[in-house]
Amino acid sequence: MAIQDIYPTALRLLGRPVLVVGGGPVAERRAKGLLDAGAKVTVVAPIATETLQGFDASGLLSWEAREYRTSDLDGVWFVQTATGTSAVDTQVAADAEAQRIWCVNASDHEASAAWTPAVAVVDDVKIAINAGGDPRRAMALRNAVATALETGDLPLRRHRKPGAGGSVALVGGGPGDSGLITVRGRRLLGQADVVVADRLGPRELLKELAPDVRVIEVGKTPGHHPVPQLEINRILVDEALKGNRVVRLKGGDPYVLGRGGEEAEFCRQNGVEVEVVSGVTSAISVPAAAGIPVTHRGLAKGFSVVTGHEELSEVPARPDHTVVLLMGVAQLRDSAAALAGSGLPLDTPVGIVENGYLPDQRVTIGTLGSIADQAEAVGVANPAVIVIGDVVRVSPFAPQHFKTADYSTITPNRPRVRSN
Ligand code: SAH
Repeated sequence: MAIQDIYPTALRLLGRPVLVVGGGPVAERRAKGLLDAGAKVTVVAPIATETLQGFDASGLLSWEAREYRTSDLDGVWFVQTATGTSAVDTQVAADAEAQRIWCVNASDHEASAAWTPAVAVVDDVKIAINAGGDPRRAMALRNAVATALETGDLPLRRHRKPGAGGSVALVGGGPGDSGLITVRGRRLLGQADVVVADRLGPRELLKELAPDVRVIEVGKTPGHHPVPQLEINRILVDEALKGNRVVRLKGGDPYVLGRGGEEAEFCRQNGVEVEVVSGVTSAISVPAAAGIPVTHRGLAKGFSVVTGHEELSEVPARPDHTVVLLMGVAQLRDSAAALAGSGLPLDTPVGIVENGYLPDQRVTIGTLGSIADQAEAVGVANPAVIVIGDVVRVSPFAPQHFKTADYSTITPNRPRVRSN
């Protein structure tokens, strides 16, 4: 049978009687598919898989534990035969043909009146693929298309809006590189009607949006003040109530110093469905962009993420507890003094990573005692992540004398020399 001789269509089997002849794994798979579509399934087979027996016991389908007879076809809309015995399958197919009932014959693909495609469901899209009678090829293609849909590489966005209300997704976009958003975040972005964007985050992805997707900028840009938080909350709710799928694309993770909690709460209070998609936070990833792990065996077992110098008195002041400062450039001198005041040695390494993962990334490394002057000298500016602690020593950007410190996990037998 040539591929052009098939006529793809979608059957709506909800509540309609259908027949599966056979009780093995193939019959089971097909019965499941038919049940998923809501069909009223009868299985005829002397022996059935445990799963099919379970379905029968729980009333999902009805299993007749006996051989097939022609009268089984009475009143059915569709039949699948997969007995494993080609004579029986041929008989079922011939009976179905005589009664003009569509039949899929598992043992004779060429003669089969109907074919079962490889199927995947992503969101409310169902794809079905027939590939020249080669089921593995069909499955491979199905998997590839499903992946492309799931990752947002294919245009999953609706063009007809349903009557019901829209929704909001707070999507953590990661630190800025378009590869560091989650698969789910990317997919939701591909489905969005409206994107409410920050200054930080994967801005390149905005260029890939369809031309009719509305982008509302709420982040601070040079010369413009950011949209106040309450106003952002209102925009999210208003757009969703108009029936739009709204993506609030945020830098890093929505729940790390990103006011995601307030946005989610406001949506819920106003009856708008909201989903929060975690992101790669800059607190961990931006240090990593400079080769700095926030924990490292032998150097630091834990880390704190804080914004300013107020919280610093609560943070363990030890070189083996990493302190990560977000939004910390303006207060850097005060923060360094506060940590020194709590007892952190002045020779504790400090790294500043500006524009992590972006083309203009810059790394400045110094010590608690020197960093404020260094930052001033080179004109460090936001966005920047400041990392304080011994972990900074492992950065490839660290000056050579920092690297003479004890990092036992890398060269366990090396003599211990302290740096200053
Ligand atoms: N929710 C975000 C943080 C928002 S606060 C997250 O989880 O990452 C904004 C701060 O994040 C900036 O002031 C800066 O300290 C940091 N930041 C975000 N992206 C950055 C980047 N690409 N490079 C350096 N710092 C960044």
